[in-house]
Amino acid sequence: MARRNSADAELRARAEAVIPGGMYGHQSARLLPDDYPQFFSRAKGTRLWDADGAELIDLMCAYGPNLMGYGDSEIDEAFIAQLRIGDAMTGPTGLIVDLAETMTAMVTHADWAIFCKNGTDATSIALMTARAHTRRKTVIRAKGAYHGCAPWSTARTAGTIPEDKAHQILCDYNDVESLDKAVSRAGDDLAAIFAAPLKHDAFIDQEPPLAAYAKRARGLADETGALLVVDDVRAGLRIARDCSWSVVGVRPDLSTWGKCLANGHALSATLGSEKARRAAASIFVTGSFWFQAAPMAAALATLKRVRETDYLEQMQALGDYLRQGLSERAEARGIGLRQTGPSTMPLVLFEDDPDMRKGFFFGSEMLKAGVYFHPWHNMFLNAAMTRADIDQVLAAADRSLGFLKSALPALGPVEKMAFLAA
Ligand code: PMP
Repeated sequence: MARRNSADAELRARAEAVIPGGMYGHQSARLLPDDYPQFFSRAKGTRLWDADGAELIDLMCAYGPNLMGYGDSEIDEAFIAQLRIGDAMTGPTGLIVDLAETMTAMVTHADWAIFCKNGTDATSIALMTARAHTRRKTVIRAKGAYHGCAPWSTARTAGTIPEDKAHQILCDYNDVESLDKAVSRAGDDLAAIFAAPLKHDAFIDQEPPLAAYAKRARGLADETGALLVVDDVRAGLRIARDCSWSVVGVRPDLSTWGKCLANGHALSATLGSEKARRAAASIFVTGSFWFQAAPMAAALATLKRVRETDYLEQMQALGDYLRQGLSERAEARGIGLRQTGPSTMPLVLFEDDPDMRKGFFFGSEMLKAGVYFHPWHNMFLNAAMTRADIDQVLAAADRSLGFLKSALPALGPVEKMAFLAA
């Protein structure tokens, strides 16, 4: 329910009639506080304007794609220039080769690249490559980890059949014993071990990967001949300039990328090592728009920035500053916060908040103060952010925490989040 008489409310009413459920997937505002906008009109740099024209500092970065700032002029100029020359054509341009060379030079484990559009394409290609390579069926993945919305990976069962998720064994992230058991259960049929680069599930605290878990996954893949896949669609380029598991010293056989690869332009990739090259060449995967040249030009410009600037260290420093600032302000008011995840992908949850009544109240206050803050999904920093932006976020947080403190005794349950408390 959006604010009454707003452009957002009007769009939602019209969407109800022509878009199933009013909106689908992660862009539905159904599980957000009632006053959160669902529709936006504009974005530039670190800012976002909702359909009613309210300006917000955006801590969601389009759920990841905004890495260097919305509408970065250099990257968008590369995109537009290529668009004018040729984009979707009867075949790819040489940019696909430039980009494959760039990515394989940047990502240590990678010797080849397949480009596609969404993260789901990339993870599905990884799955098929592993099955083609091993001629086996079983895939191990961690409980609660998101790898896309294809029938084999989607988070809900509606519209899928049990066979879509057959031959999958779930284990607990970071739990070596559980991984060992899953591998034993797979017997001689293990095709792949899928791993998120960190535990970045929604609604719960994030966990960095334990080196012992990552190393065990590598060892088990080697022992069994299965392929190790790191799904870097969300965390890629916000933890390292290499695959995110490079920070724990583990090289996968396959890695999947998307979201911020072209700073908001539609492009994703599956990268693989030599071992998997023949299998990758054997599967039939393609798409009408997978070879578009303009997003590839944008990706080359984005990756140039990745290589040649300290964008990552700057983002990390600002993320640390935000985390420290939030923690001091919450502590000063005696409010318990749990801040988890890499500082460039922060998740902030309140202590003792099973139905998110504190998180929702705080989020709404942040929104009123001009900050788009997510109450239960990891957020994303971008490299266009400055200390002044973070200071603005912290000032908003300070006021919002103050309001929360006074409102706490009277806060009612958040009905729509009751499933979390159940
Ligand atoms: N893997 C991970 C880790 C993701 O976070 C996502 C998207 N949130 C995907 C895969 C799927 O990407 P897309 O939505 O672009 O299909």
